[in-house]
Amino acid sequence: MRTVLAGDLGGTKCRFALVTADYGVHCVERIETVREREPFLQRMAEAVGRVLARARECDDLDEPCAFGIGAAGVVDKAGAELGDPPNLPLGGFGLTAWCERQFALPVTLLNDGRASAWGEFLRGHAAGRDPLLCLFFGTGIGIGLIADGKPFRGGSNAAGEIGHTVYRPGGRVCPCGGRGHFEAYCGGRAMVERAAEELAGAPTGGGHRAPWTVDDLVRCAGEEGERGAIARGILEDAGVAACTLIANATMVFNPNAIVLGGGVLSGWPELRQRLARHVRETTDPIYHRDLTFADSMGGSDAILWGAAAATGALWTA
Ligand SMILES: [Zn+2]
Repeated sequence: MRTVLAGDLGGTKCRFALVTADYGVHCVERIETVREREPFLQRMAEAVGRVLARARECDDLDEPCAFGIGAAGVVDKAGAELGDPPNLPLGGFGLTAWCERQFALPVTLLNDGRASAWGEFLRGHAAGRDPLLCLFFGTGIGIGLIADGKPFRGGSNAAGEIGHTVYRPGGRVCPCGGRGHFEAYCGGRAMVERAAEELAGAPTGGGHRAPWTVDDLVRCAGEEGERGAIARGILEDAGVAACTLIANATMVFNPNAIVLGGGVLSGWPELRQRLARHVRETTDPIYHRDLTFADSMGGSDAILWGAAAATGALWTA
Protein backbone atom coordinates (compact mmCIF):
# COMPACT_ATOMS: atom_id res chain seq x y z
CA MET A 1 0.00 0.00 0.00
CA ARG A 2 1.23 3.49 -0.90
CA THR A 3 2.36 5.46 2.17
CA VAL A 4 3.38 8.97 3.17
CA LEU A 5 5.49 9.77 6.23
CA ALA A 6 3.73 12.35 8.41
CA GLY A 7 4.94 14.37 11.39
CA ASP A 8 3.22 16.43 14.07
CA LEU A 9 5.71 18.78 15.76
CA GLY A 10 4.04 20.19 18.87
CA GLY A 11 5.25 22.26 21.80
CA THR A 12 5.14 19.38 24.27
CA LYS A 13 5.29 16.25 22.09
CA CYS A 14 5.89 15.13 18.53
CA ARG A 15 4.44 12.18 16.62
CA PHE A 16 5.60 10.46 13.46
CA ALA A 17 3.74 7.81 11.47
CA LEU A 18 2.97 6.42 8.04
CA VAL A 19 -0.38 7.42 6.56
CA THR A 20 -2.19 5.44 3.89
CA ALA A 21 -4.91 6.54 1.45
CA ASP A 22 -7.62 4.85 3.58
CA TYR A 23 -6.65 7.31 6.40
CA GLY A 24 -4.81 4.59 8.24
CA VAL A 25 -2.14 5.81 10.67
CA HIS A 26 0.59 3.16 11.08
CA CYS A 27 3.81 2.60 13.05
CA VAL A 28 3.31 5.66 15.30
CA GLU A 29 6.37 6.88 17.24
CA ARG A 30 6.28 9.66 19.85
CA ILE A 31 8.97 11.86 21.39
CA GLU A 32 8.88 14.59 24.01
CA THR A 33 9.75 18.02 22.61
CA VAL A 34 13.10 19.18 23.98
CA ARG A 35 14.17 22.83 23.97
CA GLU A 36 17.63 22.48 22.36
CA ARG A 37 17.93 22.12 18.62
CA GLU A 38 20.61 19.43 18.20
CA PRO A 39 19.06 16.94 20.67
CA PHE A 40 15.66 17.68 19.14
CA LEU A 41 16.86 16.87 15.62
CA GLN A 42 18.63 13.74 16.82
CA ARG A 43 15.49 12.45 18.58
CA MET A 44 13.42 13.27 15.51
CA ALA A 45 15.82 11.37 13.23
CA GLU A 46 15.74 8.37 15.57
CA ALA A 47 11.94 8.38 15.82
CA VAL A 48 11.53 8.53 12.03
CA GLY A 49 14.12 5.75 11.76
CA ARG A 50 11.98 3.60 14.07
CA VAL A 51 8.84 4.30 11.99
CA LEU A 52 10.66 3.23 8.81
CA ALA A 53 12.15 0.13 10.45
CA ARG A 54 8.72 -0.99 11.71
CA ALA A 55 7.19 -0.32 8.27
CA ARG A 56 9.75 -2.62 6.61
CA GLU A 57 8.38 -5.45 8.73
CA CYS A 58 4.86 -4.88 7.37
CA ASP A 59 4.42 -6.58 4.01
CA ASP A 60 1.47 -4.43 3.00
CA LEU A 61 3.16 -1.04 3.55
CA ASP A 62 5.37 0.47 0.82
CA GLU A 63 8.32 2.72 1.59
CA PRO A 64 6.98 6.30 1.97
CA CYS A 65 7.12 8.47 -1.13
CA ALA A 66 6.96 11.86 0.65
CA PHE A 67 7.15 13.48 4.10
CA GLY A 68 4.55 16.00 5.32
CA ILE A 69 5.15 17.93 8.55
CA GLY A 70 2.62 19.99 10.54
CA ALA A 71 4.51 22.20 13.01
CA ALA A 72 3.47 24.59 15.79
CA GLY A 73 4.56 27.90 14.29
CA VAL A 74 4.33 30.22 11.32
CA VAL A 75 6.01 28.71 8.24
CA ASP A 76 7.74 30.99 5.71
CA LYS A 77 6.27 31.50 2.25
CA ALA A 78 8.67 29.05 0.61
CA GLY A 79 7.79 26.33 3.16
CA ALA A 80 11.47 26.11 4.11
CA GLU A 81 11.51 27.01 7.80
CA LEU A 82 9.56 28.16 10.88
CA GLY A 83 9.71 31.85 11.81
CA ASP A 84 10.16 32.04 15.56
CA PRO A 85 8.08 29.27 17.11
CA PRO A 86 7.71 29.89 20.87
CA ASN A 87 7.70 26.18 21.75
CA LEU A 88 10.03 24.50 19.22
CA PRO A 89 13.84 24.97 18.98
CA LEU A 90 13.67 25.43 15.22
CA GLY A 91 13.40 29.21 14.63
CA GLY A 92 15.14 30.21 11.39
CA PHE A 93 16.44 26.66 10.85
CA GLY A 94 16.14 25.17 7.35
CA LEU A 95 14.01 22.26 8.56
CA THR A 96 12.68 21.27 5.14
CA ALA A 97 16.15 21.02 3.53
CA TRP A 98 17.51 19.16 6.58
CA CYS A 99 14.68 16.61 6.42
CA GLU A 100 15.14 16.16 2.67
CA ARG A 101 18.83 15.37 3.17
CA GLN A 102 18.25 13.25 6.24
CA PHE A 103 15.41 11.09 4.95
CA ALA A 104 15.89 11.35 1.14
CA LEU A 105 12.23 12.28 0.60
CA PRO A 106 10.43 15.33 -0.81
CA VAL A 107 9.25 17.33 2.24
CA THR A 108 6.25 19.63 2.74
CA LEU A 109 6.16 21.82 5.86
CA LEU A 110 3.00 23.60 7.03
CA ASN A 111 1.50 25.19 10.12
CA ASP A 112 -0.12 22.65 12.46
CA GLY A 113 -3.46 24.51 12.77
CA ARG A 114 -3.74 24.41 9.01
CA ALA A 115 -2.74 20.74 8.88
CA SER A 116 -5.39 19.93 11.52
CA ALA A 117 -8.05 21.83 9.59
CA TRP A 118 -7.19 19.93 6.42
CA GLY A 119 -7.43 16.64 8.28
CA GLU A 120 -10.79 17.62 9.77
CA PHE A 121 -12.03 18.64 6.32
CA LEU A 122 -11.01 15.29 4.83
CA ARG A 123 -12.14 12.98 7.59
CA GLY A 124 -13.69 14.82 10.58
CA HIS A 125 -17.24 15.38 11.84
CA ALA A 126 -17.71 18.30 9.42
CA ALA A 127 -15.92 16.67 6.46
CA GLY A 128 -16.54 18.39 3.16
CA ARG A 129 -18.18 21.50 4.65
CA ASP A 130 -16.61 24.44 2.84
CA PRO A 131 -15.54 26.98 4.05
CA LEU A 132 -14.57 25.15 7.21
CA LEU A 133 -13.15 27.02 10.19
CA CYS A 134 -11.26 25.12 12.88
CA LEU A 135 -10.59 26.76 16.23
CA PHE A 136 -8.40 25.01 18.76
CA PHE A 137 -8.28 26.38 22.28
CA GLY A 138 -5.16 24.58 23.48
CA THR A 139 -1.92 25.80 25.04
CA GLY A 140 -2.28 28.59 22.50
CA ILE A 141 -5.10 29.35 20.06
CA GLY A 142 -4.78 27.46 16.80
CA ILE A 143 -6.83 28.21 13.74
CA GLY A 144 -7.21 26.76 10.29
CA LEU A 145 -9.51 27.83 7.48
CA ILE A 146 -10.31 25.59 4.52
CA ALA A 147 -11.64 27.45 1.48
CA ASP A 148 -12.26 25.83 -1.92
CA GLY A 149 -11.02 22.51 -0.55
CA LYS A 150 -7.62 23.81 0.50
CA PRO A 151 -6.13 25.60 3.50
CA PHE A 152 -6.21 29.37 3.12
CA ARG A 153 -2.60 30.55 3.40
CA GLY A 154 -2.70 34.32 3.04
CA GLY A 155 -0.22 36.48 1.13
CA SER A 156 2.90 35.29 2.95
CA ASN A 157 1.66 31.98 4.39
CA ALA A 158 0.88 33.57 7.76
CA ALA A 159 -2.94 33.91 7.70
CA GLY A 160 -5.00 32.98 10.72
CA GLU A 161 -3.13 34.23 13.79
CA ILE A 162 -6.37 35.47 15.30
CA GLY A 163 -5.28 34.53 18.84
CA HIS A 164 -2.67 37.27 18.59
CA THR A 165 -5.02 40.00 17.48
CA VAL A 166 -5.79 42.63 20.13
CA TYR A 167 -8.76 42.10 22.44
CA ARG A 168 -7.93 44.69 25.13
CA PRO A 169 -5.35 47.33 24.09
CA GLY A 170 -2.64 47.52 26.76
CA GLY A 171 -4.09 44.49 28.55
CA ARG A 172 -2.50 41.31 29.90
CA VAL A 173 0.86 40.14 28.52
CA CYS A 174 0.43 37.34 25.97
CA PRO A 175 2.75 34.29 25.84
CA CYS A 176 4.03 35.81 22.54
CA GLY A 177 5.16 38.96 24.39
CA GLY A 178 2.45 41.23 22.97
CA ARG A 179 -0.21 42.89 25.13
CA GLY A 180 -3.95 42.38 25.34
CA HIS A 181 -4.17 39.57 22.75
CA PHE A 182 -7.07 37.10 22.86
CA GLU A 183 -4.61 34.32 23.71
CA ALA A 184 -3.59 36.21 26.88
CA TYR A 185 -7.17 35.65 28.13
CA CYS A 186 -8.46 32.40 26.65
CA GLY A 187 -5.31 30.45 25.69
CA GLY A 188 -4.73 27.51 28.06
CA ARG A 189 -1.18 28.49 28.97
CA ALA A 190 -2.21 32.04 29.86
CA MET A 191 -5.18 30.77 31.90
CA VAL A 192 -3.13 28.40 34.03
CA GLU A 193 -0.31 30.93 34.46
CA ARG A 194 -2.88 33.40 35.76
CA ALA A 195 -4.29 30.73 38.09
CA ALA A 196 -0.80 30.07 39.49
CA GLU A 197 -0.31 33.82 40.04
CA GLU A 198 -3.63 34.65 41.63
CA LEU A 199 -4.60 31.49 43.50
CA ALA A 200 -2.53 30.66 46.54
CA GLY A 201 -1.28 27.11 46.98
CA ALA A 202 -1.20 24.05 44.74
CA PRO A 203 -4.24 23.20 42.59
CA THR A 204 -5.27 20.37 44.87
CA GLY A 205 -4.86 22.55 47.94
CA GLY A 206 -2.49 19.84 49.15
CA GLY A 207 1.23 19.86 49.85
CA HIS A 208 2.66 19.14 46.39
CA ARG A 209 3.27 21.85 43.82
CA ALA A 210 1.85 20.32 40.67
CA PRO A 211 1.44 22.76 37.80
CA TRP A 212 -2.08 24.08 37.28
CA THR A 213 -4.26 22.72 34.48
CA VAL A 214 -7.54 23.99 33.06
CA ASP A 215 -9.28 21.03 34.75
CA ASP A 216 -7.91 22.20 38.12
CA LEU A 217 -9.13 25.71 37.46
CA VAL A 218 -12.64 24.46 36.65
CA ARG A 219 -12.65 22.33 39.81
CA CYS A 220 -11.46 25.28 41.89
CA ALA A 221 -14.26 27.47 40.44
CA GLY A 222 -16.73 25.09 42.09
CA GLU A 223 -15.31 25.85 45.56
CA GLU A 224 -16.87 28.20 48.12
CA GLY A 225 -14.98 31.24 49.33
CA GLU A 226 -12.29 33.47 47.89
CA ARG A 227 -10.38 30.86 45.87
CA GLY A 228 -13.56 29.81 44.09
CA ALA A 229 -14.44 33.44 43.35
CA ILE A 230 -10.98 34.14 41.88
CA ALA A 231 -11.14 30.99 39.73
CA ARG A 232 -14.62 31.90 38.51
CA GLY A 233 -13.29 35.37 37.60
CA ILE A 234 -10.47 33.87 35.49
CA LEU A 235 -12.92 31.54 33.72
CA GLU A 236 -15.39 34.36 33.14
CA ASP A 237 -12.68 36.54 31.56
CA ALA A 238 -11.62 33.61 29.38
CA GLY A 239 -15.23 32.85 28.40
CA VAL A 240 -16.01 36.43 27.37
CA ALA A 241 -12.78 36.61 25.34
CA ALA A 242 -13.40 33.25 23.63
CA CYS A 243 -17.01 34.22 22.78
CA THR A 244 -15.87 37.55 21.34
CA LEU A 245 -13.18 35.81 19.30
CA ILE A 246 -15.52 33.21 17.79
CA ALA A 247 -18.23 35.76 16.94
CA ASN A 248 -15.62 37.97 15.25
CA ALA A 249 -14.22 34.99 13.32
CA THR A 250 -17.71 33.90 12.25
CA MET A 251 -18.40 37.30 10.72
CA VAL A 252 -14.96 37.67 9.12
CA PHE A 253 -14.84 34.19 7.54
CA ASN A 254 -18.56 33.30 7.22
CA PRO A 255 -17.85 29.54 7.51
CA ASN A 256 -20.33 26.73 6.79
CA ALA A 257 -19.02 24.79 9.76
CA ILE A 258 -16.85 25.45 12.79
CA VAL A 259 -14.83 22.62 14.28
CA LEU A 260 -13.91 23.15 17.93
CA GLY A 261 -11.12 21.40 19.76
CA GLY A 262 -8.21 21.73 22.15
CA GLY A 263 -7.39 21.04 25.78
CA VAL A 264 -9.25 24.07 27.18
CA LEU A 265 -12.54 22.72 25.78
CA SER A 266 -11.91 19.17 26.97
CA GLY A 267 -11.14 20.50 30.47
CA TRP A 268 -14.05 22.93 30.38
CA PRO A 269 -16.83 21.45 28.19
CA GLU A 270 -19.43 24.11 29.15
CA LEU A 271 -17.44 26.60 27.12
CA ARG A 272 -18.22 24.69 23.94
CA GLN A 273 -22.02 25.16 24.37
CA ARG A 274 -21.50 28.75 25.39
CA LEU A 275 -19.50 29.52 22.23
CA ALA A 276 -22.17 28.11 19.91
CA ARG A 277 -24.94 29.90 21.82
CA HIS A 278 -23.05 33.18 21.73
CA VAL A 279 -22.62 33.02 17.95
CA ARG A 280 -26.35 32.30 17.50
CA GLU A 281 -27.39 35.09 19.87
CA THR A 282 -25.06 37.84 18.70
CA THR A 283 -24.61 37.47 14.94
CA ASP A 284 -27.11 38.21 12.19
CA PRO A 285 -29.01 35.05 11.10
CA ILE A 286 -27.28 35.17 7.70
CA TYR A 287 -24.10 34.05 9.52
CA HIS A 288 -25.53 31.25 11.64
CA ARG A 289 -28.69 29.96 9.92
CA ASP A 290 -26.78 27.20 8.08
CA LEU A 291 -23.79 27.07 10.39
CA THR A 292 -22.85 23.71 11.95
CA PHE A 293 -20.67 23.26 15.03
CA ALA A 294 -18.70 20.03 15.27
CA ASP A 295 -16.20 18.56 17.71
CA SER A 296 -12.65 17.99 16.56
CA MET A 297 -11.70 14.39 15.74
CA GLY A 298 -8.93 14.90 18.27
CA GLY A 299 -5.71 16.70 17.47
CA SER A 300 -2.97 14.43 16.42
CA ASP A 301 -4.47 12.16 13.77
CA ALA A 302 -6.07 15.16 12.07
CA ILE A 303 -2.65 16.85 11.93
CA LEU A 304 -1.09 13.70 10.46
CA TRP A 305 -3.83 13.40 7.83
CA GLY A 306 -3.45 17.07 6.95
CA ALA A 307 0.34 16.86 6.79
CA ALA A 308 0.04 13.82 4.51
CA ALA A 309 -2.55 15.63 2.36
CA ALA A 310 -0.20 18.61 1.97
CA THR A 311 2.34 16.43 0.16
CA GLY A 312 -0.21 15.77 -2.60
CA ALA A 313 1.03 12.17 -2.77
CA LEU A 314 -2.09 10.44 -1.40
CA TRP A 315 -5.07 12.65 -2.15
CA THR A 316 -5.40 15.53 -4.57
CA ALA A 317 -6.98 18.73 -3.26
ZN1 LIG B 1 0.02 37.08 21.42
